Amino acid sequence: MNYRIWALLFLCLTAVLAWQLGAWVGYRLVEQEALEESFRYRQLVANELNRYRPMPELMAEHPLLQRLLERPSDQRLILQANEEMKRMATIVDSSDVYLMDRTGLTIAAHNYDQSNSFIGRRFDYRPYFSEAMATGESAVYFALGVTSDLRGLYFSHPVKNDAGEILGVVAVKIQVDELESQWLRPASSANAEMVVLDGDGISFLASRAEWLYRDFTPDTSSADNPALQQRYPGRELTNMDVLEVNRKLTMTSGSSSLVLLNLDGVRREYLSTQTPLPRLDWNLRVLIGTGPVLWTQIQFLTGGLMLFLGGFLTWLYVRERYRREAELAQRGEQLEKRVTERTADLEASNRRLLAEIRQREATQNELKATQQELIQAAKLAVLGQMSAGLNHEMNQPLTAIQAYARNSRRFLERGNAEMVDANLAEIVTLCNKMAELTRQFKVFARKSEGPPATVDLRLAVDAALKIITAQDSSEGVRIRWRRPDHGVMCHGDLIRIEQVLVNLMANAIQAVETVPEPGITISIHDGGDHWQCCVEDNGSGLPADSDQVFEPFFTTKSVKQGLGLGLSISRQIVDALGGTLTGHNRADGPGAVFVLTLAKPRKTP
Ligand code: ADP
Repeated sequence: MNYRIWALLFLCLTAVLAWQLGAWVGYRLVEQEALEESFRYRQLVANELNRYRPMPELMAEHPLLQRLLERPSDQRLILQANEEMKRMATIVDSSDVYLMDRTGLTIAAHNYDQSNSFIGRRFDYRPYFSEAMATGESAVYFALGVTSDLRGLYFSHPVKNDAGEILGVVAVKIQVDELESQWLRPASSANAEMVVLDGDGISFLASRAEWLYRDFTPDTSSADNPALQQRYPGRELTNMDVLEVNRKLTMTSGSSSLVLLNLDGVRREYLSTQTPLPRLDWNLRVLIGTGPVLWTQIQFLTGGLMLFLGGFLTWLYVRERYRREAELAQRGEQLEKRVTERTADLEASNRRLLAEIRQREATQNELKATQQELIQAAKLAVLGQMSAGLNHEMNQPLTAIQAYARNSRRFLERGNAEMVDANLAEIVTLCNKMAELTRQFKVFARKSEGPPATVDLRLAVDAALKIITAQDSSEGVRIRWRRPDHGVMCHGDLIRIEQVLVNLMANAIQAVETVPEPGITISIHDGGDHWQCCVEDNGSGLPADSDQVFEPFFTTKSVKQGLGLGLSISRQIVDALGGTLTGHNRADGPGAVFVLTLAKPRKTP
């Protein structure tokens, strides 16, 4: 189920529980208050009763009353007794004190000298008289005064002679207004109301005037009861209309009940506690308005809702936190997974790259080997071409040496040592030339090993020129070598550069073969961080697509003259040395120019 529905359910449950708990606590508080008020007032009433109860007994002990009852016509005794009654009334602060004979006729009273004097009146119907006469003990009775119409508590005691014979009854009446006003102490609850009910359920003390002389017993009408008519003469004793409310859930004490009372036309709910007063058949009823219960319920509801809100927010916070933590953990896992995947990918591509690198290295090695082989093949091809020339070159000096040797023998026979020496010198010169020729071919044919180093470009040109000039084909060609005075140090390999230059120069010589004034110019230029060595000729020039000449096997020559590999190999050699080799037709005249560019060595700091 959606958590919102759960939250709503919990909210409702909390509200209901808080409301019920508030009611329970509220009623408990009100009940507590009612019990406290009951206890207080019960004590107060008991104290009052205990204060007055011994009074008539003490008065009955007075010998004057006894004497008067024995001689009721003695005017002097009557006067004395009346005075005594008055004095006693003043002392005990009672409203009435009077003495009745056996028939209930008042023979002495504290108000003997007043117009409404009790003297001569008969109270034999009053229970306080009949009870005292019947039991010979003290009696207490509550009633409205017949003459005064004031509520009073009547305390009575029989007056006996020495033989214990009852002669009459002395009665003391206390006004109860004082008891009522005691209820309304300043500290008492404004919500609290009180009624004291007699044995028949009629209220004779009440905190509200309109609740006096009302019948609090349900379903019975006291209006017709003659005893009650005597006790409350002239009062209607209407029913109080107390409606009991059955709310067992909220109540805990058996002496309490919830009632609805009509107050100024409005029904109000009260919590009622009933307590019997000591030694009397009276009941004290304390009624407390249950208005504060609603307030307590509202407070509990507010508290409950706040508690719920607090709990709900905490739950939301904890839930969010757990959610985030879970999310973070999930993200972490995903990240880890991705990293693992990525690492695996990288490792795979690394492996692939390594394999590729190895393959490339292998291919490169293969290429290098093939290059070397090609270079070698090209050289051998050049050698093959040269061998014809070489044959001619070697034959000439050999024939000359032969001739010089023969001549020398003849000169030796003739004894011309001078000529022999001159011929031998010629032979040595020719042998040197032949040795130089073979040495050059040997240099050309050898393979270059080792890494590139710093070399003087001038020396490479010198070496190449030696090879070229040794060939017959270079005869008649004007070779200009603009040799710089300073060293031309560059990054490269002397033998390889020499081989490239030999190739360039050989090509140039072949290009100028048919030209009337054949000429080759070799020069070196400073290009900043590199040197440029230019081999120019005034020959036939390059085809329109000048870069085509660098393609392998491109040749315009006969099979005897060329294979079309020279420039292709030369360019690869120069590339391997970190330089460039380009060729184009001259701008200033017929012929081609080939430019060999090589980097200057890096200056070490
Ligand atoms: P080969 O000399 O064996 O033909 P190269 O690779 O050395 O092979 O040269 C390729 C071609 O480039 C030559 O056949 C020629 O047509 C052209 N070539 C090279 N150098 C020159 C030059 N200096 N002048 C004109 N053409 C040239």
